[in-house]
Amino acid sequence: MSALSDLYADFPARLSAVRDRVAAACHAAGRDPATVEILAVTKTHPPAAAEAVARAGLRAVGENRVQEGVAKRAGCAAPALAWELIGHLQSNKAALAAAHFDRVQSVDSDKLLQLLGRAAAAQGKLLPILLQINAGDDPAKFGADLADAPRLLETALAQKNLRVDGLMTIAPLGPSPAETAMHAARTFANLRNLRDDLAARLGVPLHGLSMGMSGDLEAAIAAGSTLVRIGTALFGGRAS
Ligand SMILES: *Cc1c(COP(=O)(O)O)cnc(C)c1O
Repeated sequence: MSALSDLYADFPARLSAVRDRVAAACHAAGRDPATVEILAVTKTHPPAAAEAVARAGLRAVGENRVQEGVAKRAGCAAPALAWELIGHLQSNKAALAAAHFDRVQSVDSDKLLQLLGRAAAAQGKLLPILLQINAGDDPAKFGADLADAPRLLETALAQKNLRVDGLMTIAPLGPSPAETAMHAARTFANLRNLRDDLAARLGVPLHGLSMGMSGDLEAAIAAGSTLVRIGTALFGGRAS
């Protein structure tokens, strides 16, 4: 084993600890742990991190920057691993993202829908997406406003080369842990209610609810998360 892969020698143990947390949260919520996927967030970590994820048998990794993800994927010897974009996407990188990511979770505007739809058509593919919603009304966060979600979903469903898998959100931080926890519970409940409302109104399943990170996965699972995006708990702290 190379020195770089030794860096991630503790990944299986960390993954097992996260799986225990997911299982406990599912148990508390009366849910089957098989209904919650762990997406390993490899941002700021080298390709060896993604290789450790693949060796552990996970389906996918999440990256928050287009160029970083594209470069990492090119340097990663794990061909079956799926790559998901979870960070803010600028219009001028939409075509690059459509070409190199298996799913884009951070779609929050009509303009992005149009650009991604056009790029996917030109590339002859069906691109799965999630709509990112600012369900916690956080002024510091990207994501469409709750009130704009129905119109955004209609625009998304009209794009033949996009497949809408569900919704994604990031809970806002509060000034204290107690307030952060309150924001998280409110944000996740908002996204879940929005999903139920949109699914009923437009007659689409919208199965995916991407919500919950290292610090708030329990609250997200209680509210119905189907995919938790975990960085710190799997890889330790990040320098940036
Ligand atoms: C970094 C990041 C995560 C993972 O956060 P951790 O707290 O390290 O688990 C999840 N989602 C998004 C959008 C991120 O940018």
